[in-house]
Amino acid sequence: MISQEISIADIIRKQRAYFNTGQTKDINFRLEQLKTLKQAVTEQKDAITNALKADLNKPEFESYATEIGVIQEISHAIKHIKIWTKPKKAPVSLQFFPASARIYPEPLGVVLIIGPWNYPFQLMISPLVGAIAAGNCAILKPSELTPNTSRLLNEMIKQYFEPAYITVVEGGVQTSQQLLAEKFDHIFFTGGTAVGKIVMEAAAKNLTPVTLELGGKSPCIVDTDINIEHTARRITWGKFLNCGQTCIAPDYLLVDKSIKENLLNELHKCLQEFYGDNPAKSSDYPRIVNQKHFDRLAHFLKEGKVRIGGETNPSELYIAPTVLEDVSLTGSVMQEEIFGPILPVIEYTDITEAIDLINSKSKPLALYLFSNNKNLQQQVLQQTSSGGVCINDTVIQVAVSSLPFGGVGDSGIGKYHGKSSFDTFSHYKSVLHNPFWLDLKWRYAPYKDKLSTL
Ligand code: NAD
Repeated sequence: MISQEISIADIIRKQRAYFNTGQTKDINFRLEQLKTLKQAVTEQKDAITNALKADLNKPEFESYATEIGVIQEISHAIKHIKIWTKPKKAPVSLQFFPASARIYPEPLGVVLIIGPWNYPFQLMISPLVGAIAAGNCAILKPSELTPNTSRLLNEMIKQYFEPAYITVVEGGVQTSQQLLAEKFDHIFFTGGTAVGKIVMEAAAKNLTPVTLELGGKSPCIVDTDINIEHTARRITWGKFLNCGQTCIAPDYLLVDKSIKENLLNELHKCLQEFYGDNPAKSSDYPRIVNQKHFDRLAHFLKEGKVRIGGETNPSELYIAPTVLEDVSLTGSVMQEEIFGPILPVIEYTDITEAIDLINSKSKPLALYLFSNNKNLQQQVLQQTSSGGVCINDTVIQVAVSSLPFGGVGDSGIGKYHGKSSFDTFSHYKSVLHNPFWLDLKWRYAPYKDKLSTL
């Protein structure tokens, strides 16, 4: 532990020295590093897929779409970095004439990025894109629960980047806490709400700003004015992707009573279409990350009537895609983030019941609404608060670079993706420039009689 403490302090010292050379501020340098990152991900595709398979039994297609797909985020930054880094003119009111104003984005310095296990590759690389584009040095701490991906990230970053510029520090809670005891210029954390509070407390000791990308229970409302087949397919995909271990997966369904039976029948059909009669045999269905999470999820299965699925196999950490009915609103399955392949279904007779239930809980990371009814869409948008909303689909909002991604309230602080990632890792320095050619004296003493002229 002591040697790691020394080496962590040493890494940070070296990164500070590197940052102080000014090299990372050069826009062409940043551009080159982004290109190198893109090259690294492209060249390591197979190794990334293999690591994700070993850690989560992630199907190759899902690894490609949801992890290696981070290449899109890198390409977006490469394309826009010159515009993002340009100082922007700001208007100045006449009373300050002839002064002019500009806002200069500048890097923060040495930043720490801590990640979770569910998308263990993408959720390290995506914030790193912002850190590089904004001109920072970075230390990455991947999740210890996905050791193969953690090792791969370490080796990949070592191979393509100078350690004084970007370094991976592998380890668990203790390592994370050793890192958090140090002074950084920004901490970017993705994980659970409980650990988010620990991170923020540690950061406060050094007055380090934080971005907290946390979790929560993302509701999914289903109204009657829908295309039921498309609705069922989109919900099934978003919920059971990565075996439900997705921070923005629909956590529970709130469905209009009159359409519930039809919807559940459609969901059943979709599950058979996606994973066959026995999802345990499907190569497209992943597994739960570890025994602890398996036990947590198995407990939820006892909290309602199993309508679809419900089968488990502890030796394989397998839990079938499951739909639960008759759940109690006060039970743990409706109080805690599920983060697994279990979908409780609650019916409502009036939309206000669904809205009231959502508003009785912490603000979620995502809210899904399936409805073509424009008035209903507006009502839900105006009467609820969530990190983001997706209407008539699930999960895909996260992949749109022009949409800032983040939570609100208990689901997080701050935003990233696209330009927002650049903003997160930048300080916007306001600069006012007053030339010498004019010096109006009205603001200077003596003030005698000047007040009456204002
Ligand atoms: P977690 O909070 O347990 O762990 C995240 C990271 O924090 C890991 O690297 C871990 O080593 C470290 N950590 C754990 N305990 C710590 C402690 N006591 N002190 C310091 N560091 C500690 O989260 P997880 O289980 O890896 O991920 C699941 C959670 O992450 C879910 O709640 C999910 O909703 C959330 N999540 C959010 C997003 C998002 O973008 N908002 C994305 C993915 C996951």
